[in-house]
Amino acid sequence: MRSSPRLAAAATAAALLLGGCATVPPRALVARTAPVPAPTQVNAVVDSPLPKAASPFAATDPTAPSVPVEEPATPTPTAPTTDPTPPPGPDQPTEPGVPSEPDCAVLKCVALTMDDGPSPGTGRILDLFAKKGVKATFFLLGEHARKNQELVRRMVAEGHEVGNHSWSHPEFWYLSKRAIKKQLVRTNRLLAKLGQRPQLVRPPYGEWDSDVAKVTKALGMPSVIWDVDPEDWKYRNAKKVTKRVLKQVHRGSIILTHDTLKTTRKAIPAIVKALQDKGYTLVTVSQLMAGKLHAGKRCYRAPSR
Ligand code: ZN
Repeated sequence: MRSSPRLAAAATAAALLLGGCATVPPRALVARTAPVPAPTQVNAVVDSPLPKAASPFAATDPTAPSVPVEEPATPTPTAPTTDPTPPPGPDQPTEPGVPSEPDCAVLKCVALTMDDGPSPGTGRILDLFAKKGVKATFFLLGEHARKNQELVRRMVAEGHEVGNHSWSHPEFWYLSKRAIKKQLVRTNRLLAKLGQRPQLVRPPYGEWDSDVAKVTKALGMPSVIWDVDPEDWKYRNAKKVTKRVLKQVHRGSIILTHDTLKTTRKAIPAIVKALQDKGYTLVTVSQLMAGKLHAGKRCYRAPSR
């Protein structure tokens, strides 16, 4: 999932306007893989479903929707051992052995999401998350999950959320409803076998429209976009990625990153440390959006509280 700077800014603006879930896609706000010709008009909010548009780049660059993957991965530095422990949540009644759900009405929650994996380097990220008490959401590609099944099982076992990012990362705008469904169902089936039937969809490139809405509604799945995009696919520099996340983040944010990128994996320890130092609790998207997710709709971030 990637986005152009112009569209990313517009998406952020829309997130601020919409909060929570919206039923209809402002087509011009959806993130794209590569910079595309600027639309003649950018509508912050659109109230009716939009027809599918001709691809601005599919005809000229059929390889554009390639997924940012770097394999084999090189080791990612582990987190410094001197980091403070994450801030504790409020006391909550729990049964022995049953982890309590974070209360984001009280805590300053954000959701860190990681797309396109799993990749062999994702294990180091899981090591860090375990050490720091972080729960994240991994929007997985079916074809990568099939190659890295143990990592998927580990994500589930360690309390992370596993979401559906399609089987092979096609552009949903240019697929039939039947093809979209096939991409999602095939991935759901595999991930269910590996431990968790996904509850959430992140359409590749954030491409969401009335057809995606219909298919995901039938599958009982909401779509999750984002309001914080460091454009880590473009800025292959860990410090810059970290800085861009911290500049955009707010309580309730949904942060887009890619664990398939070496520079992003390198940035994650600093991002986690800085967010926790600022008092944020890192939770899954379903925890962040508890009770506010609806099948066939999409969200950018948690509604303002
Ligand atoms: Zn993606």
